[in-house]
This record gives sequence, C-alpha cells and structure tokens, in this order.
Amino acid sequence: MKITAIRLTRMTLPLEPAFNAAWDPNPRRQFPATLVTVETDAGIVGIGSGDTMDGFEAYEHLFLGTDPLQILNQVRRIETINFHGGRYWPLEVALWDIIGQVAGLPVSVLFGGARDRLPAYASCGELKAPEARAQSALAAKARGFRAMKIRISRDDVAGGIAAVRATREAVGDDFDLMVDLNQMWRMSGDIAPALPLARVQRIAEELQELAVLWLEEPLPQVDVVGAQRVRAQTGMQIAGGEMVRSIAELAALVEADAYDIYQPDVVLAVGMYRARQVAESANLRHRLFTPHTWTNGLGLLANLHVAAGVDAGPYLEFPYDPPGWTPDRRDFFLEPIDIDDTGCLVVPTAPGLGATIDWDVVKRFTV
Ligand SMILES: [Mg+2]
Repeated sequence: MKITAIRLTRMTLPLEPAFNAAWDPNPRRQFPATLVTVETDAGIVGIGSGDTMDGFEAYEHLFLGTDPLQILNQVRRIETINFHGGRYWPLEVALWDIIGQVAGLPVSVLFGGARDRLPAYASCGELKAPEARAQSALAAKARGFRAMKIRISRDDVAGGIAAVRATREAVGDDFDLMVDLNQMWRMSGDIAPALPLARVQRIAEELQELAVLWLEEPLPQVDVVGAQRVRAQTGMQIAGGEMVRSIAELAALVEADAYDIYQPDVVLAVGMYRARQVAESANLRHRLFTPHTWTNGLGLLANLHVAAGVDAGPYLEFPYDPPGWTPDRRDFFLEPIDIDDTGCLVVPTAPGLGATIDWDVVKRFTV
C-alpha cells in the first residue's frame, strides 16, 4: 500500500475570552485545529488531528509513496523532522486509522486491547474563584464524573489552593481531586520564572492535607531531583511529561523514576507508538501511564485508543470546563465524545479510530 496524498485542513474556532486568557499570556482568542487526511492507493483514507502541523508542507514529500503499514518506519521518519521542523504526530494518528481499517479492528486492540472503556476525570482549564470551582465540581459529580483536576496558576497560588480546599469541602471524600502546577513546559512567550522548589514543597504539603490524588508538573523538566524530593516529603503521587519532546527524554525520566504517573500526549509529545513504549516501561516499574489529552476531540480519541489498549489509569483526562470548554466546542468538527452514565469513556468499536467527522462543519471553520 502507498500513500498518495496528505491533505491538511486548517480550522479555527473562536474561544471564550475568559477561557483563553487563563491559558495564554498573549491570547489569540482562537482555537486552531488541523485535520490531517491521508489517502492511499487502496482507497483507504485515514484521519488525524491534535497539533497545528505548521510547516509540514516542507516535509510532505518524505511520506508520499511510502507504505502506511510500515508504521515503525513512519514513526522514525516523523522523529527525524522534529529537530528542524515540528512534531507531526497527527500524521501518525491518520496512519493508525488506516492500519485499523485494514485490520478491521479498533486501534485500541492494536495497542494491546486491555480495556474497552476508561474512567474519565473532568480536567479544568479556567482559573475560577473558590466558590465557582466548588460548584463546577458538584455539577461534574452530578453528571457522573468521579474525579476532577484543578489548575493552580503560579500567579495566584493562594487562590488556587483556596479553590482546591473549597472543592474538597463541597464534594466530600469520595471524589478524587488532582492538581496541575503546569511547570514543565511553557506557552509561547511565557518567560516568567518558575515557582522555586521550597515554595512548591509548601504547596504540596497543603495539597496533601486536602487528599489530592496527584500533583502534576510541580517543577521544570530539568528538576528531577526536586520532583523526587516533593514526592518523598509528602508521599503524594507526582505526575508529569505531557509535552516531553522525545522518547529518549521520557525513557530517561522513567529510568530515573522521576514520577509516579507519566503523561505524554500521543498527538503532541512522542506519538502513539512511542507512548506505548513509555506505558510499558512505566508499568514494568509499577508506575502509571495516563496521557494528557488537551487538544480537540480527535486528539482525545487517539489518546483514548492508546490508553485503553495499554491499560492506562487510574483515569483518562477529559478536557471539560463549561461553559468555556464543553464536548461540543472541543469536538466541534466530529460527533462529540462524552462519558457514559458510569463516568467512563467507551472506545468506539468501528475499525480504525471510529471517528465520525462532520464535513459540513469542517468546511464552515476552514481558514
Ligand atoms: Mg498538565
């Protein structure tokens, strides 16, 4: 089989200002989404998404005429580009969609087939006041979620801890809370210093008293020793690695036993095939893997297939923070993905990714 064409469809979706401002020091007020469509000489078409694919046109010729089923070679080829170019993992997603269709199996089965569903946690984006965050958690709990992750901004640590405390008091003990300090990577243009280790240690102590299940990305990537100290000091699980740039760096983190939970996003960090390697090496050490999924619905779906295949857990991230971020908005160009009445995300059973793209919507938002 040969790849005959790779089409990039670039879309943007307007964002709620409050939602965007919470993330981006230089808000663009738009959510970029690029749909990758790979065509083959067998008539099978694969789709992927999750990153912008900026600059990919310069490298497209490296893939045209190659065999989509030789997936390790394709992964290696994509890796050779991430030095001068970008990380073009949505292309790998489209290739797995093709492989799944050829095999007649969901992609999750090709990744191990361990689970057909995973419990999801509501993952917040906005920085809400304590009462509002507590109310949002109660609403999420009523909707079926069993866990929520709350971001704490380094610009307002006290406000963030107050939001976690108010949430814990509102939801009680039978609902897991996680906290993300987002200190491992930066949005473009953010050159402010990270919170120092001593401050992070005090934050971790306060969060431990609130029975936080894991503390995510408490320190910059280089500070493995600091992360280990926070974990030893509090006994709290440490999570990290959502945007780590290479499998070599992730392998070194696992080797150093840097975290309890490894989170490379399969469409942003190291791709699907490599994420499975991370999951397996972490599991061999009795550590966990559960990927970051904060892109669009197709990116979430790619992460769901890998996560279900490799037996990820204890929860899968479900980007959810209404009214700014809802399944309808996140999954705007496909049939929205949502939890079932037990709080689980169920893997589609159709061959490949099993996504249902709304091509009219794609056309409407194409730029
Ligand atoms: Mg995170």
